[in-house]
Amino acid sequence: MSWWSERPIRFIQTNLREIDLPLDPQAYARLMGEYHADAVLFNLGGIVANYPTKLPFHYANPRILDDLIPHLIEELHRKGIRFVGRFDFSKVNEVIGSRHPEWLYRRLDGQPVTYNGQMHCCLNGDYQQKCSLEILKEALEWYPVDGVFFNMVGYQTTDYSGVYHGICQCENCRQRFGETLPNKEDAEDPVYWRYLRFCQETSKELFHRIRETIRGVRPECAINTYTHEGVDMIRSESNSGLRRPQPEFVYESSLNVRRVYGSWPGLVSSNAVVHFIDFPYRHAGVAPALTARRLAQNFIHGGWMDFYVIGKLDEQPDRACLPRVKELFALHQAVDDWRTGAVGLADVCLVAVDRASPGHNAEELKGLFTLLSEEHVLFDVLEEEALDQPEVENRLARYRLVILPDMAVISPRLAAALDVYVSGGGRLIVTGLSGSLDANGITQTQVGLACLGVDHFERRDQARGTYFEASENDLGVLPDLAGVSWIPMDTPWLACEPNPSAMTCLRAIPVGMFGPPEKCYYLKRGDEPGLIVNPFGEGLSVVVPWQIGTQQFRFPTHAIPRFFHSIIEHVLKLPRSIRFEAPPMVEVSAFTRFADHALLIGLVNLSGQNGRSVHDPLPIRNLRIGISRSFGAVSAQSLSVGELASEPGEDYRWIELPQLELCDMLKIHYLPITEV
Ligand SMILES: [Zn+2]
Repeated sequence: MSWWSERPIRFIQTNLREIDLPLDPQAYARLMGEYHADAVLFNLGGIVANYPTKLPFHYANPRILDDLIPHLIEELHRKGIRFVGRFDFSKVNEVIGSRHPEWLYRRLDGQPVTYNGQMHCCLNGDYQQKCSLEILKEALEWYPVDGVFFNMVGYQTTDYSGVYHGICQCENCRQRFGETLPNKEDAEDPVYWRYLRFCQETSKELFHRIRETIRGVRPECAINTYTHEGVDMIRSESNSGLRRPQPEFVYESSLNVRRVYGSWPGLVSSNAVVHFIDFPYRHAGVAPALTARRLAQNFIHGGWMDFYVIGKLDEQPDRACLPRVKELFALHQAVDDWRTGAVGLADVCLVAVDRASPGHNAEELKGLFTLLSEEHVLFDVLEEEALDQPEVENRLARYRLVILPDMAVISPRLAAALDVYVSGGGRLIVTGLSGSLDANGITQTQVGLACLGVDHFERRDQARGTYFEASENDLGVLPDLAGVSWIPMDTPWLACEPNPSAMTCLRAIPVGMFGPPEKCYYLKRGDEPGLIVNPFGEGLSVVVPWQIGTQQFRFPTHAIPRFFHSIIEHVLKLPRSIRFEAPPMVEVSAFTRFADHALLIGLVNLSGQNGRSVHDPLPIRNLRIGISRSFGAVSAQSLSVGELASEPGEDYRWIELPQLELCDMLKIHYLPITEV
């Protein structure tokens, strides 16, 4: 097994500036050891070479006195710490770039972009297509690096100030795309969607050549970047942004890690927890409690403990979070033995729709992610691309429920596989405008999924002031809506015509008067259902024809969680491998280790957030974790508390966890299934 895949690694990135050289290799390695790091990410080449390159198109750091790299790698290896070299080929020094205008990215007006002496390069120019490979070969032939990381891969359209420069219009892009390049990111333009596919395909093609080059020189070298194609580990970031609406998505780290493990077996997730606030404030940290929470989420979901600072770790102007980082890295080290061979345990598959797919709606995914997390459902996140495979039916068969969050374009292959899945006893929920567009983004009125029990539908625009109403009969099906007869419906939706086999609940109330108060009453009722349940073969499908995830993400209320809870508990009767008696702000994960019949259960305490402020969480007491009796659990221990008491229940054996601080991991031994 490779060094990066045996168990989650502790990884520290010191994103060095030119002025950080020279540095003392011994002191650097010693500090990394004190933080319990297994690997470091160190700037090696690209924008600035931190080694004495001989290539004329590679700008070398003028502060190189002698070659630091061999000494540094030796010192790190002596401590068992791996060296991952960082490269960034997105820009080139302007002295070099001005000699090669054919390498450069071009704006709509044909001009290149220069930022602090660096010129933006286009993926289709020879700097990225050829010179990058020569740089890699040189560095890898010279130094025994354990891995390489690539920053800013693909097509970059903004600079560090956040200025948008548009879709590249260079001659190389023109020729390779083969038709007129779109001049704006217009979701209504089919050419734009074709361009996004072009970007994906050309990025993949280059990355496969990069991989061949690296493997040709160092077969044991790990490859790391932000895409899944041709890599061993997928990088992502939990970062903050001054221009983003606050508060940010609480589960960002968890989503980043889970979408890797759910989608790409064999790849590992390296989700960088970014120390600083945003590019203009790279020397000021986010709240230490936020950094700690992000690391804790990486931890429980099996991602790397990946921490990233600008410059040297011991010279940060803001060092407030560093003791927490060290403490969490030590905690992670304490379970190194637990993690070997652990695989995720999930009852539900939440599909992440491809970003380049028409109608892509990230908020629906985040809203449903939140609903599932708050329900303590064990779920995987699967990228749509991972399902576009011949063995898709096998992937789905592992789950008791599949959820399509507002998947506007459902490919014929996936539709066929889902029909087989439901017919064989699977459960399916589709939400929002799922199935309402064809592959070119054109509206259609029939979905290609027989299992849904919907003959036709008509897309309706968002009409603020619309509701769905639950009747007395509906409350029998959706008992958690007791006391909430009207649910606001603030998104576009589908008016569905169900076929006779389907059962429907909730009825639309079209927009009525909402002012003045004397006139706030609704006289009309519609026939359109807000929930369609269809038995199909041995299974059951559920259509929720509006964007409940999006709505819950934008303005969370109690109505949608109650509705959702009723769907999974009472309509679908979702079996749960593990149940949790814990507040919604406890996030959970579970893994199995078949080799020694162990379950690992992770918990993170998300309390402590007060609006936009993130503080240390308040301790949560007396949690109960129910392990399905099919496991025959015999003992349980917690990383923080030690041995835990348990008591048998009807379907579950209940383990008592007296207190949860920020995070914990439980190891539960169970009898082999055959001995139960
Ligand atoms: Zn270009």
